[in-house]
Amino acid sequence: MSNKLTIEEIHNLYESGDATPSEIVRTTLEKIEADNERLNAYLTINRENASIAATAMDADIRSAVKTKPLAGIPVVVKDNLCAARVRTTCGSQILGNYLPPYTATAVKKLEDAGAILVAKANMDEFAMGSSTENSAFGTVRNPINTDYVPGGSSGGSAVAVAAGHVPVSLGSDTGGSIRQPASFCGIVGLKPTYGRVSRFGLVAYASSLDQIGPFATSVKDAARVLTAISGHDRHDSTSVNEPVPDYLSALTGDIKGLRVGVPPECFGEGLDSEVKASVEAAITRLKDRGAEIVEVHLPHTKYVVAVYYLIATAEASSNLARFDGVRYGYRTEDARSLSELYRRTRDEGFGAEVKRRIMLGTFALSSGYYDAYYEKAQRVRAMLANDFAEAFNKCDVIATPTAPTPAFKVGEKSDDPLAMYLGDIYTVTINLAGVPAISIPCGASSAGLPIGLQLIGNHFDEARLLNAAFAYEQ
Ligand code: GLN
Repeated sequence: MSNKLTIEEIHNLYESGDATPSEIVRTTLEKIEADNERLNAYLTINRENASIAATAMDADIRSAVKTKPLAGIPVVVKDNLCAARVRTTCGSQILGNYLPPYTATAVKKLEDAGAILVAKANMDEFAMGSSTENSAFGTVRNPINTDYVPGGSSGGSAVAVAAGHVPVSLGSDTGGSIRQPASFCGIVGLKPTYGRVSRFGLVAYASSLDQIGPFATSVKDAARVLTAISGHDRHDSTSVNEPVPDYLSALTGDIKGLRVGVPPECFGEGLDSEVKASVEAAITRLKDRGAEIVEVHLPHTKYVVAVYYLIATAEASSNLARFDGVRYGYRTEDARSLSELYRRTRDEGFGAEVKRRIMLGTFALSSGYYDAYYEKAQRVRAMLANDFAEAFNKCDVIATPTAPTPAFKVGEKSDDPLAMYLGDIYTVTINLAGVPAISIPCGASSAGLPIGLQLIGNHFDEARLLNAAFAYEQ
């Protein structure tokens, strides 16, 4: 069996009788177990549940592939997505032994479509990071070259697909955590429109920015998963009641007349020259296929990292207040008072980056500073959304690099949070505006590390966005 199978290839094996779900799940678990020591991509392997689910599908799999879009497909989800009674840690000591009583809507929808959850993926603690070096359970390695980071925060989910363990996985993206690791690992990663996918059962980081989305080796598989997980959910009031198209059938590959906007603000200072050359070549490819290239402007690009790290940390400081040793997860021992219980639980349970964010966010929200930081950031956020609205008057999709550099070495930026944050410049802006964006592979550096092209769409225009990505992929 080839290393990387798509959903369609697995379904063909089922239809021809050349494989059963139990066989596929067994080989998947073997690969995961064999590679985990080297890659550290998984926190929990769902061995028994997955085997039971697969066996139950064996008899009827030939008919199931006709009715269920993900029948018998092994999947991995990031460890901030709850699966009932399966350990869900968020990459944190504070949730080290947490067993959620319910399943996240996105995970439930995958299972309803026939998917089998084989493992929970390692991640930066509470999804805070860009390298998956901030997990309380150790650093994840890039399968292309294990001296390098896989990107983050959904590093484990990206590795699951890039290493050929599963065809698709789920991550969460608050400021780039699906697209940037997709770019670093040479695969496809999609952040849907804010409101497209229910976040019920996703442990919140920054609620006005968080979205769940797929990793895949092909645009088709990303489209399949998006169709499966999208839609309104009465458990998440921010999920929007917009019809869910069949995203797969939108992939015609025809982009004649598609207007592709290119913002010069995303091609300037700080952009690695090999990344720039690859992304520019990709834009030329789109033109060769009939797209029209137009210049658009995102004049507030220089403020986005500052704005994002104020808003995201402010929201995180509030969301993470619930981890107090009383209701969930870890509790310190022998505390003599309630305040000591809170203080010691949080001190022992959270890692350094999470503490830094909680302090920064609490400061930005505190009286006397609120107007100068949080409120000002919100104003710039509104201007940024306006930049996108204006750009989308002139074009249908926007093309930029996903990240300013290819993957960096493990340890290279871990002592310099600012350098780490600056690498998020092209991705955070998308979450601030709430629009969808996809990263697709568009080349490699001279060191052999993948480079990602980011295509950005207008609100709820995923069908057109995916088709543009598909046309490039062809
Ligand atoms: N790197 C960004 C951060 O650390 C984005 C993370 C994410 O999208 N979850 O906040």
